[in-house]
Amino acid sequence: MSLVGEALKQLMRKPSTLKYPSEKATPPPGFRGLPIWDMKKCILCVLCQNACPPSAIKLIGKGQEAKVEYHLDRCIFCGECVDACPVDAITMSGQYELAGSDRSIMVLCFGKEKPVIPVKNAP
Ligand code: SF4
Ligand code: SF4
Repeated sequence: MSLVGEALKQLMRKPSTLKYPSEKATPPPGFRGLPIWDMKKCILCVLCQNACPPSAIKLIGKGQEAKVEYHLDRCIFCGECVDACPVDAITMSGQYELAGSDRSIMVLCFGKEKPVIPVKNAP
């Protein structure tokens, strides 16, 4: 194909980029976005806290009062917590829009009773 022909072919092609933020990408299978705790499943074994390399997870309290304090600003999205959990209580969600300008809102709490999630763009 001639150079002009190739150039015309490329001009007619759909762009491979998206007009973010008006267009959002669909995360591929296995994408590691925001981790989510299902505290109804959690047996408070502390394995996720111990497995977390940057100490982004802290289990607080006991019984129905127990909650996971998750520090989004420390998380490196490695998925070690998911692998460590014996009851599959943690999933890496597809949520990737997690930037914030204030570290004080980067702490999410997941509780047995109801999730306490102060971050504006959390699920
Ligand atoms: S994904 Fe990795 S860094 Fe983030 S909370 Fe889980 S273990 Fe910690
Ligand atoms: S590893 Fe799973 S069961 Fe153990 S404390 Fe963490 S979320 Fe709960």
